[in-house]
Amino acid sequence: MRHREHDEHHRRRRLQLNEKLFEALNHRLEERIQELREAGLIPEDPDAPIRYMCECSREDCRERFAMEPEEYARLHSEPADCVVLQGHEMLDIEVVVDEIGDLLVVRKRPV
Ligand SMILES: [Zn+2]
Repeated sequence: MRHREHDEHHRRRRLQLNEKLFEALNHRLEERIQELREAGLIPEDPDAPIRYMCECSREDCRERFAMEPEEYARLHSEPADCVVLQGHEMLDIEVVVDEIGDLLVVRKRPV
């Protein structure tokens, strides 16, 4: 592999890992919120929307979107998929597979 291609491969890989990191954080966030709901510390139904973090690959993105846990789980049934805000997609590492309001479901291209 030539040097530049090598760097490009690493750049894409890093961007994709960043998305997977935010997905993992969202799963932890959801778990914690569901524990607090079950314990009665947050007065909400278990299926009430949760404010998840945008799963895009911008390292400085701190935006959130509200979604019911059931829908969040459904959108992640494909392991390569992430949910990002409109305009946060990066088409050189992923393709848009679904559009829900101001959100996009993106699927990572193999690197
Ligand atoms: Zn974002």
